[in-house]
Formats: sequence, structure tokens, C-alpha cells
Amino acid sequence: MKIVRTRAELSQIRAEYAIQQQTIGFVPTMGALHNGHISLINIAKQKTSAVFVSIFVNPTQFNDPKDLEKYPRPIERDIDLLQKAGCDLLFLPSVEEIYPSKEVWDHDFGVIASRWEGAMRPGHFSGVGQVVKRLFELVNPTYAFFGQKDYQQTLIVKKLIADFNLPVILEVCPIVREDNGLAMSSRNVRLNDGQRSIAAIIYRCLQGMKEAWNKGVAVEEIIKEGKKLLETQEGVEIEYLAICDVEDLTAITTNTHQKNAIAIIALRLGGTRLIDNMLL
Ligand code: AMP
Repeated sequence: MKIVRTRAELSQIRAEYAIQQQTIGFVPTMGALHNGHISLINIAKQKTSAVFVSIFVNPTQFNDPKDLEKYPRPIERDIDLLQKAGCDLLFLPSVEEIYPSKEVWDHDFGVIASRWEGAMRPGHFSGVGQVVKRLFELVNPTYAFFGQKDYQQTLIVKKLIADFNLPVILEVCPIVREDNGLAMSSRNVRLNDGQRSIAAIIYRCLQGMKEAWNKGVAVEEIIKEGKKLLETQEGVEIEYLAICDVEDLTAITTNTHQKNAIAIIALRLGGTRLIDNMLL
């Protein structure tokens, strides 16, 4: 596996792949890798001739400086995991390499950026859009692989590609979970054993919501019951729990909704923020 830290080196290597007409699958990450990330690499390997992964903890998408500071960065372990996963190239840039000059970035992602995660984390999706666009320009991938775990983020990337006409095909990959149903996340390392088992309730809640939705239970009732289930758990503070339209995450309030729906949840458990979702 090649480890590349500069734009100049990346562009030189990328050009060699282009000459050989190889398709590039790109998996952008913030590191602290787990099996969720590895699953994206495995899907990318099946679809493309070479897999590039980036590890970059992007400061512009953190609205909470403490969260940025606390973000886990086990780089040696990550490199080892990527080598074992058969990644071809790791792009490991510094902040200066990604943002060499103070860029004015103010793209309007519309309502998708301002609701749910956008409302809880102001500026987050603006930062996500900024870094993904930058990484796409540098890596120039044929395909980009993102996890459904961050569903709203996939809508932002979809819009970014459309708005800027970027020559990238977006692939959204399934959520990988722990045995107890907890969606894998780099932030899970902050949970103690007790909190990990409490966090498993999120998946059970989503399954319950899906079952109720398919039985035609009133949306209001599903949301009330879902919140009740989570609120009874020690240390849980719900940020949002909703059933939404899959296209733009508008909250659904009636069961007569004809389009596809998704259940979304965000909560805090102790000091850790967890998000999850399930297509209904
Ligand atoms: P992150 O390092 O958290 O920015 O995540 C990098 C990519 O991995 C994003 O596309 C995430 O959606 C995806 N990802 C994170 N957790 C999971 C998971 N449990 N299952 C599948 N993909 C995931």
C-alpha cells in the first residue's frame, strides 16, 4: 500500500492510474477505522481496479472544538488495517495540504443541510461538502463509497455531485453493526461496557419502528413509543427521532405517504453522540 501525504505526489500517482485506464474506488474517512469502513473498502474492491482511502479529520465539519480535539487518531493501527484490507493507496494529508489558502466556501445545500444533523451541528454539512469536493478534485475517483450510517451525509454528497457536475459515481453502502445491533462508529470507543449494551436499544427501537410502520400504526404513535423506549434507558438524551422521506428527509406525519421512508435517530449517551437509521 502506498502512503501519500501531498497533493503533488497524489496527482502524479493518479495520472499513472489514468494512463493504465484503471477505475479508482475512493473511500474517504476520518480514521479510527472499524469494520464499517472495511466493508466500504471490500465493496469498492469488487467494483473498481484500485481502492484509494483517505484519512483526514476535517476541522471545518466540527462545530464543537472539544469533539475535534477528542476525535480518536490511532494512525498506526489504521495503516495496519488498511494494509490487511488490501487498500492500494492511503492519502494522509495535513490540514495545510487540504486547505493551502483560506478558501471562501459557502455552497447552499438547501433544506437538506439545515434539518436533523444540520440543526444539531450548525455548519457541519457545509464543512462536509467543502472537504468532499476538495478530496474528489484531488483523488478524481471513478466511484466514491459512503455509508448509509450517515444517511443525511449521502444526500449532501449526492447534491454536491449534481450541483458541481462532478464526474463521480456515488455508491451508498449498508450499515455494519456490532453483534448486539449497535451501528459501528469511531466514537463507540468512548462508550464503556454498560453504555455499549444500553446503546443496543437504538437498533431495537429502529426495528420496532419499522415493524409498526409496516403494520400501519399511526406515525405519531410510532414516534411516541420509540421515544418512550429510548428515554427509559439510563443516561440517554434523545436529540431527534423521526420518520422521514428518503429523498429530502422531510418529516412524515401521515401513513398515507406514498414515497419511501426512513427512520432516523440521534441521541447522547453520557458524553457520546450516536446516530443511526433504518429504511422502512
Ligand atoms: P467517518 O470516518 O466516520 O467519516 O466515516 C467514513 C465513512 O464510513 C462514511 O461514509 C461513513 O458513513 C462510513 N461508515 C461509518 N460507520 C459505518 C458503519 N457502521 N457501516 C458502514 N459504513 C460506515
